[in-house]
Amino acid sequence: ETPLLEVRNLQTHFFTELGVVPSVNGVSFSVKKGETIGIVGESGCGKSVTSLSLLQLISDPGKIVGGEILFNGEDLTRLSNKQMRKIRGNKISMIFQEPLTSLNPVFTIGSQISEAIRLHQNVNKEEAKEKAIVMLKKVGIPRAEKHYYSFPHLLSGGMRQRVMIAIALSCNPQLLIADEPTTALDVTIQAQILLLMKQLSTEYQTSIIIITHDLGLVAEMADRVVVMYAGQIVEQNNVYELFKNPKHPYTKGLLNSIPKIHQLKDQLESIEGNVPIPSQLPAGCKFHPRCAAALEKCRFQDPPLFQAKQGAEVRCWLHQEEVIGV
Ligand code: SF4
Ligand code: MG
Repeated sequence: ETPLLEVRNLQTHFFTELGVVPSVNGVSFSVKKGETIGIVGESGCGKSVTSLSLLQLISDPGKIVGGEILFNGEDLTRLSNKQMRKIRGNKISMIFQEPLTSLNPVFTIGSQISEAIRLHQNVNKEEAKEKAIVMLKKVGIPRAEKHYYSFPHLLSGGMRQRVMIAIALSCNPQLLIADEPTTALDVTIQAQILLLMKQLSTEYQTSIIIITHDLGLVAEMADRVVVMYAGQIVEQNNVYELFKNPKHPYTKGLLNSIPKIHQLKDQLESIEGNVPIPSQLPAGCKFHPRCAAALEKCRFQDPPLFQAKQGAEVRCWLHQEEVIGV
């Protein structure tokens, strides 16, 4: 089965006064129909730039300088703006972290959902309104007929995020990209929103790419996990093996920083050191300044991506078996 999305050797660079910043530097992964992929990493690792690249929303001084983004076999990097507008919000939808900035404050939520529906479906105003109310009910907005006429600021953060999900799914997309979709919400609401996304993606057979710094969230949601560091994929595997047999020292560090039951917050281990500034990446393995397991060669030689045990793809000299990428 050909995947819905296949990203091959994606490179997105920013041409700044300080030099060329390789924010995404040779990223390859694929997403099957109905599959949920988690892209994880600390902020600045390139995960958001990856998702914006998929939608062709990189603007100056950023540019996709290499690679392919095959969506249903068609390379999105070769499409015109006009062709891309037909795909965005239609075949590929996106949910961002803070719905207030994506919802228009001067229009009612109902009119914004209707608008999204009418943009992509051949329906009249009345039909669009009916559909919008169905969507509001689906995402669990109480008294949907009444809230159709509410303005965004009258809703709570969680309710606004439900509205965003309604808008994102109203065109029945094949792929939903959710960038830190619940970060601004409290834990209980987060769980509800994620459950909702999961239910709806199953119902609609939508594939999801969820971008997050939170591995706990990925454990709940994703079938497969892509771990990014300094613009590269450092580990990729199915969610079960990644949690059971993490290989890359960075993945292990992220796993150790997830709170466990009966563990006090100050007992959490965090990974020492900081994400490198993308314009000043270290030589050798990009993670070596923070890696307790670093070997001498790690300071000089950048590891390629290896096919390791348990199906893992790992960018680390400690797991070198068969080279599968650079
Ligand atoms: Fe650590 Fe070396 Fe592996 Fe990089 S290649 S993660 S520095 S052991
Ligand atoms: Mg981000």
